Amino acid sequence: MPTRNNSTSTAPSDTTERERRTNVRPDGWRNPSPAERYSLVVIGGGTAGLVAAHAAAALGAKVALIERNLLGGDCLNVGCVPSKAIIRTSRLYAEMRNAEQYGAQVPADIRVDFAAVMERMRDIRARISRADSVHRLVAVGVDVFFGQARFTGTDALTVEGATLRFKKAMIATGSRPDTPAIPGLIEAGFLTNENVFDLTELPRRMLVIGGGPLGCELAQAFCRFGAQTIIAQSWPLFLPHEERDAAQLLSDAFARDGIEVRLNTSAVNVRVENGQKLVDLVSDDYKSTVAVDAILTGTGRVPNVDGLDLDAAGVDYDNKDGIRVNDFLQTSNRRIYAAGDACLEHKFTHTADASARIVVRNALFLGRQRVSALTIPWCTYTDPAIAHVGLYVRQARERDIPVRTFTIPMHDVDRAIADDEETGFVKIHVKERADQILGATIVARHAGDMINEITLAMVAGIGLRTLARVIHAYPTQAEAIKKAADAYNRTRLTPFRKGILRKWLRGWV
Ligand SMILES: Cc1cc2nc3c(=O)[nH]c(=O)nc-3n(C[C@H](O)[C@H](O)[C@H](O)COP(=O)(O)OP(=O)(O)OC[C@H]3O[C@@H](n4cnc5c(N)ncnc54)[C@H](O)[C@@H]3O)c2cc1C
Repeated sequence: MPTRNNSTSTAPSDTTERERRTNVRPDGWRNPSPAERYSLVVIGGGTAGLVAAHAAAALGAKVALIERNLLGGDCLNVGCVPSKAIIRTSRLYAEMRNAEQYGAQVPADIRVDFAAVMERMRDIRARISRADSVHRLVAVGVDVFFGQARFTGTDALTVEGATLRFKKAMIATGSRPDTPAIPGLIEAGFLTNENVFDLTELPRRMLVIGGGPLGCELAQAFCRFGAQTIIAQSWPLFLPHEERDAAQLLSDAFARDGIEVRLNTSAVNVRVENGQKLVDLVSDDYKSTVAVDAILTGTGRVPNVDGLDLDAAGVDYDNKDGIRVNDFLQTSNRRIYAAGDACLEHKFTHTADASARIVVRNALFLGRQRVSALTIPWCTYTDPAIAHVGLYVRQARERDIPVRTFTIPMHDVDRAIADDEETGFVKIHVKERADQILGATIVARHAGDMINEITLAMVAGIGLRTLARVIHAYPTQAEAIKKAADAYNRTRLTPFRKGILRKWLRGWV
């Protein structure tokens, strides 16, 4: 993939990087001799592949795992882990700049040591890589092969010249960044998630193309490190799937951070002049050109289906949506299943994990678990973070489900006030006249943690009546959920019930 930004990107090779490498792709690794036939062959050693291989081997299956690059896949190496590590430091810098607001003093001239930020990130990544290491796989009896897997038939594949036969296989080859078709972009050089974490120097000026989760998270982080950051999003709001008021709060937060927000804006051409990248932007009829040192794209993901010779295996796929699976995650070849980004619409680490567990049960134990039965939360880790689970109001309306929404602004929550984290809300949608939670959106500093309580309630079939009875430790931001549940309880007090209560209390007093 031509994604290198030659001017600013160099992958360092320090001790921590060597530790990660030793864990996820040791030098001098020799693939084992294949077993006669495997119960399960897993293609791809990202989250989905690792979870399935560990689970199946622990249960006694003979398992092989094939990885063409690094174990841990995107999440560990170029996704969740490095992004969350640098976001944490960027938040600290933002708080230091606002120190006076918290009654604290810091030197006026706060200097960002970007190399140190990235060194900390590499350190964290190396530590977490121990959990994804080849040694842990081998310890549970998994045969690990490094190399590109390619099907040679409906029950066999090759890797590095060896043939592996299987009873069942799972394709967990993940996804990669989409390259936007902007003339001059490839020639100018650009960053994606695959190389942005190799940077050792902060670009002075950065254009982020794409206002999805990746673009939003990294634009805010780089701006907070001190890069002059512009974010161009072709839609009228960021995170187009989220509720409009949530996305609006994010736009406002970006403006406060000093990000130059360009909505309804497309990048149409890139050229290099005097060592800088000139990008032509078009918003409706307005044309402008920005000069930057780095361009980061976050315009979507494409599934990794190429190079597998899926036709030889009789597996249906398409280049946009990936491997075609039924509700049991089975492909058109009944022996072969798929999990994670390679086949799912919701491309998250936790869905890769959950789908891999479904595959292990369905493929090896005659299970009939359905992917459609999963309740999937997600979160974009901006500041404030935006988390969601279940239905949006528009989706409920499309399905003719009557909805009632209970909203608590974070400025009504004591802990949010104490923490100066009042931007946001908890919004819980319930089915009208039924104590059934349909979905929720949370915008808050800790939205990613808070959404788990709603997810638990939905999975367990718990309604707001019960949530109102749950004692929440005071003061916590999650009290907003209890407040929403209390608001729901108040609606249960009909005029008839109120009348009876009044009579009871008057006679009693
Ligand atoms: C910047 C960024 C931040 C993210 N942040 C979050 C987050 O905060 N929370 C969250 O839930 N999700 C996040 N994600 C998404 C998450 O990383 C992915 O959903 C997750 O990694 C998918 O796991 P997977 O196992 O399906 O695929 P991957 O992790 O992509 O693993 C697939 C593996 O298959 C290998 N492979 C591919 N083809 C072959 C082949 N032919 N032969 C052998 N091996 C092959 C690849 O080398 C790769 O290692 C983020 C993603 C990015 C890019």
